[in-house]
Amino acid sequence: MPQRDRPEPDPANALAPATLAITTGRPPREPDQPLNTPLTPASVFVAGGSREYGRYANPTWEAFEETLGALEGGRCLAYASGLAAVSSVLDLVAEGETVVAPRHAYLGTLHQLGELERRGRVQVRQVDIADTDAVLAALDGTALLWVESPTNPALEVADVSVLAAAAHDAGASVVCDNTFATPLRQRPLDLGADVVVHSATKYLSGHADAVLGAVVTRDEQTWRALEEKRRTLGAIPGVLECWLATRGLRTLALRVDRAEANARTLVERLDAHAACSRVRYPGFGGVVAVELVGGEIAADLLCRTTTLWTHATSLGGVESTLERRRRWSGEPPTIPADLVRLSVGCEDVDDLWRDLAAALDPAG
Ligand SMILES: *Cc1c(COP(=O)(O)O)cnc(C)c1O
Repeated sequence: MPQRDRPEPDPANALAPATLAITTGRPPREPDQPLNTPLTPASVFVAGGSREYGRYANPTWEAFEETLGALEGGRCLAYASGLAAVSSVLDLVAEGETVVAPRHAYLGTLHQLGELERRGRVQVRQVDIADTDAVLAALDGTALLWVESPTNPALEVADVSVLAAAAHDAGASVVCDNTFATPLRQRPLDLGADVVVHSATKYLSGHADAVLGAVVTRDEQTWRALEEKRRTLGAIPGVLECWLATRGLRTLALRVDRAEANARTLVERLDAHAACSRVRYPGFGGVVAVELVGGEIAADLLCRTTTLWTHATSLGGVESTLERRRRWSGEPPTIPADLVRLSVGCEDVDDLWRDLAAALDPAG
């Protein structure tokens, strides 16, 4: 199978992320070319080129991969979902090796690690990823450090550069799930991580209309191993999803800036609200978590009462959503039962606040 050779990013020529998100992954600037890479549904390509078959390559995938790769500063592979990306990366860990992972992380990632451990494939050491000393103490004899930062839904922040340096000293590779931060707020490869994973379902697509995942790495060997695995195991992305996500990436900077500005305003107001016992915010991004004086019942009531905010799982869309995370039975018991995760969208912040405040009053 021929490999497509893509140039390494040139730091001397680096454009700002907001520019890269818009300018990368376009057709050549030639007369009659469309500005946007078109949707190309194709299971077969004429023989003799670099694509051949729809499980190996697709130009619509490549537009997304080139854009996200530029944003993260590495080479990207798109996957059927964030969890397909997670499982593909975990599959690189050799039999019997040890993985250090956050005790709070995306539920599906925790589930996969638990499943691999139950089958005797790997050993898992769970840590509080924000407790740098605890993570360092767990690294001895580890093959992989899995970082998620900020974590879902506790919003703990890891010191990725310190952890990555220590993990490398201990002989471990470092993966960082960058879904919550997006490459606009954190570039894990620059901080020393070997691999970045994304649920592109969230901020990268940004409109709650696509399920998609991605991996980005600078390590050619890792990229080749993952590309071969994707081709042979078949966890390939959908063409429509890549097209939607590329379109989503064009407005990523606008959406993240707006969601973050909204989140900052709401955090201030929530902090001052008598119904909230704790407000968690990592200091950037659009995800906030609140715990309520009225406990679990108040949390459920809040989710049922808002009219502008939708009670729904997932996050990272232009539309604001909220959810009590412990409604999922797999969520660890160390996540407070009354924790409500808010995914702050791009609506007018005063409208968002009015709706939240009206729903919090009875909940308080
Ligand atoms: C949603 C999510 C995933 C899983 O992605 P899917 O696209 O739903 O498969 C992985 N990690 C994080 C942090 C997520 O939020």
